[in-house]
Amino acid sequence: MRTLVISDIHANLTALEAVLADAKPFDAAWCLGDLVGYGPDPNECIARVRDLPNLACIIGNHDAATLDQIDAESFNPEARQAIQWTQEALVDASVAFLRALPERVNLDDVTLVHGSPRHPVWEYLLDTQNATRSFEHFESPYCFVGHTHLPSVYYLGENHSSAKLFIPEAGTRLVLSPRAILNPGSVGQPRDRDPRAAYAIFNTDEQVWEYHRIPYDVTLVQKRMREAGLPDRHIQRLSAGW
Ligand code: ZN
Repeated sequence: MRTLVISDIHANLTALEAVLADAKPFDAAWCLGDLVGYGPDPNECIARVRDLPNLACIIGNHDAATLDQIDAESFNPEARQAIQWTQEALVDASVAFLRALPERVNLDDVTLVHGSPRHPVWEYLLDTQNATRSFEHFESPYCFVGHTHLPSVYYLGENHSSAKLFIPEAGTRLVLSPRAILNPGSVGQPRDRDPRAAYAIFNTDEQVWEYHRIPYDVTLVQKRMREAGLPDRHIQRLSAGW
């Protein structure tokens, strides 16, 4: 089965459409949270994700903050502003979709969480120490995470005592071996200094992870964010990919 793995769309429909067009055909889609926040198209992104085939989707911290499930005070002022804007923009059907999202999905070979298997909604996996601890918090061969907006692969070394970090280049095709924690990067707000939308394809039969980047019309999204009155800092960062 060819599965699309996406995360951190952040209401960027233009980036999402570019990814879906580039990735097709796929049999299933796994979405690792943060569908909303930052971007101008929260309802459209939710509607698009909702209709993807064989969807598994989990909640991210921005989704949870939009639902008032976590305190938006813990976000920086601009992120908080974007969350308030999103709360006003969301229609009832979008709110109902986000409310139904679980924090964790356990599939046959893969655990899906937004942040980390230890703290699914909040923890950032940014170093090998945290990643090493994380391996104790899921049972499956693989765990797919988002949240950092940084494409990355953590795997257990030979002695299985500490995790190693591998940062893939666009176009990388990895034949996986247990166990590993993989992040496909962000669709709608990449933070690795590459503004192109990021996604992965996981072939469940061959256990292959293909990591992709695809350009999209960043200027168009920036224009729409400006018209919507979204924070300037978030508009600027899209073109630099940080
Ligand atoms: Zn995010």
